[in-house]
Amino acid sequence: MTEPGVPQPQDGVGERDAFGRLWMPHRMAYIKGEGKPSGDDPEQGCPFCRVPSLSDADGLVVARGRWVYAVLNLYPYNGGHLMVCPYRHVADLVDLTRAETLELAEFTQAAIVALRAAANAQGFNIGLNLGSVAGAGIAAHLHQHIVPRWGGDTNFMPVVGHTRVLPQLLTETRALLAAAWPAPPARPAPGRMAP
Ligand SMILES: [Zn+2]
Repeated sequence: MTEPGVPQPQDGVGERDAFGRLWMPHRMAYIKGEGKPSGDDPEQGCPFCRVPSLSDADGLVVARGRWVYAVLNLYPYNGGHLMVCPYRHVADLVDLTRAETLELAEFTQAAIVALRAAANAQGFNIGLNLGSVAGAGIAAHLHQHIVPRWGGDTNFMPVVGHTRVLPQLLTETRALLAAAWPAPPARPAPGRMAP
């Protein structure tokens, strides 16, 4: 186990913003890089492409579907801030296949269920930033934000009361949400829906 108060490196994905975090002393979590795509290959260095190759714990992956996955944001707007991403390196919502579009919606529903169950979330901000002009930090790879909200946003999971460093908090949050993630919905019989 790690020592309390000792920052631990943490893989994951997210978009750094101008806001500080209550746990900013633990910026050492980000020593592995900003996580922005680089290189000639559009997928090279893309954290949303890389994270699925990591273990759930290392990548902060909460759930994996056939076409999309859910992951904690390393730079959360709020505790439990999740993102649902297609595995494919796709920038635009209209470029998703029908199957990807469906599972993106289902995973968004599952995230709501899990955050209500695990953290008593009272509301949500959910959405996509398409293009850097719209605020997307990693515009080349589509990702839907699911940000849980509480009255006053002061009543996050009990783990927030612990004096723990960010990576440990995120790891614990990931485990809580993974445990609360609902089973996949029943699929229609083959042939009932076009691909
Ligand atoms: Zn990508």
